[in-house]
Amino acid sequence: MLIKKAIYNCESLNDNFSKKNLEIEYPSVCPMCHKSGDPSYLSSYYIDDEHTYPNLFVHFFCHNCEKTFLGNYHIGPYHGLTELMGFEPISRVEEREFPKHIKDLSPDFCNIYNQAYASEQYELKDISGMAYRKALEFLVKDYAIMLQPNNKDNIVKAPLSRCINDYIDNNRIKKLAVASAWLGNDETHYERKFKDYNIDNLVEFINAIVSFIDSDISAVNAERMIEGN
Ligand SMILES: [Zn+2]
Repeated sequence: MLIKKAIYNCESLNDNFSKKNLEIEYPSVCPMCHKSGDPSYLSSYYIDDEHTYPNLFVHFFCHNCEKTFLGNYHIGPYHGLTELMGFEPISRVEEREFPKHIKDLSPDFCNIYNQAYASEQYELKDISGMAYRKALEFLVKDYAIMLQPNNKDNIVKAPLSRCINDYIDNNRIKKLAVASAWLGNDETHYERKFKDYNIDNLVEFINAIVSFIDSDISAVNAERMIEGN
């Protein structure tokens, strides 16, 4: 639902000194992440010609996805009454929201995972698997670096399989990572080795790794708290 709100000092594009205060239909849902919220008003400009459609442009910032979007409006001839024409860009793809520990640990993982997820939603199935495989590598390596910061250089250079073997202790995460890496390779190579498994299994395993690493970071924080006492 849209509520009306006033915006102030909207600047004219054809007269430098003119400014207007206007009432507009204010967005309550972000067109990028589709979440409800109260986007911040950033700026606005208008063209002083009622025959131009649209002639009022309002820039908003969404606090959920931290992206900006534009509202297009038309200022009619009667007392500056405005009419909403639409918001853009409209994102057709959904993004997965990761727990804070995961976002802090590996922003690259979150970003690449969401690119893979977007490619899946666009039905680009032949490249999604490779992208998930790449996301997995960032997650595993960033986690390994968190566990063994002194080995950072070796971890960065090591192939994924060696990184899983040498630097990941948690047995469940290790098994999930090995299985995901194998399925990820299947998505990259000419011949498929695991014919009974597919990209859904790969995503399921990566999601499980995310949950385990998230819990593991909470456990490490608890340990630090106890030790520091
Ligand atoms: Zn948003």
